[in-house]
Amino acid sequence: MSGTINIKGKNYSIEGLTKDAVGIAQMLAEKARLYDAVAAVRDLSAEDDKEIQTQIHAQLILPDFIIRAEYMAFAANSLHLLGARLRHTSLQYQPKLFATYVQIFTILPEPKLNPFLRKYLQDKDLVQGLGNQIGRAFLDGVPWRKPSGPGHICTLLMNMLIWCDPSLGDDGKACIDTVVREGLFKKTKALQETRGFENIDEFQRMEVARCNGMLSAIEELPDSLYVTSTRQHLLGQLDGCGNLECGEDATLTCSRCKGARYCGRDCQTEAWKEHKLFCFAPAF
Ligand SMILES: [Zn+2]
Ligand SMILES: [Zn+2]
Repeated sequence: MSGTINIKGKNYSIEGLTKDAVGIAQMLAEKARLYDAVAAVRDLSAEDDKEIQTQIHAQLILPDFIIRAEYMAFAANSLHLLGARLRHTSLQYQPKLFATYVQIFTILPEPKLNPFLRKYLQDKDLVQGLGNQIGRAFLDGVPWRKPSGPGHICTLLMNMLIWCDPSLGDDGKACIDTVVREGLFKKTKALQETRGFENIDEFQRMEVARCNGMLSAIEELPDSLYVTSTRQHLLGQLDGCGNLECGEDATLTCSRCKGARYCGRDCQTEAWKEHKLFCFAPAF
């Protein structure tokens, strides 16, 4: 049994870590009211708000692989609830709750590493309307919640543009409607020209610029060509065996998370030691 993982000279029990990750993800979902049966119409109280932010920030100082395990557990178990709640939350009347939901979306591991986020974004029913809603919120000035900033919200919008079905948008070019895309193009351009923009961190600047470029490329190419070809390209990068030292094409899919893929049993067994920590059965 390979029950431990060694990180920087310290041994961690994988079973313990996985249990912790699931527990912490569940706590976050509870605090963010994702399990409430009755739709929340009030905003977060100052205390609840502080408690959630304290939890999120306390996690961020942990080693990367633990943070990743926690948010993978969250994505597998609660992403569909997060999206459903966000859709019924008003930026105007529940700004704290709204900003927190967007913040949680931006903290999740990127689609390339996160089969649950890919699955969610590709589900037309689950994600319907969300691209427009988050796009409009960005235009209306959704409050940034650290560690997210404008760059992180741009990353989220780009992930939606690439992975969500383009037929969700009014012109079929991308999941976000034309007028919202135009607004986003102007806003990301204006942000780059704002005084002091060069002083914000490099990641934020890069992502705002990249989002602006993507919005322009979507308009330049016919129909949904930009979206579909970019997605094909990214999917092509996921074709290889999940045992990174292998290099073969993958033919086998992990039956539990349906995300990790391998060339065969040997590589699956080899990768399981680490994959175990990120492997969850999605709840949606
Ligand atoms: Zn292999
Ligand atoms: Zn798996």
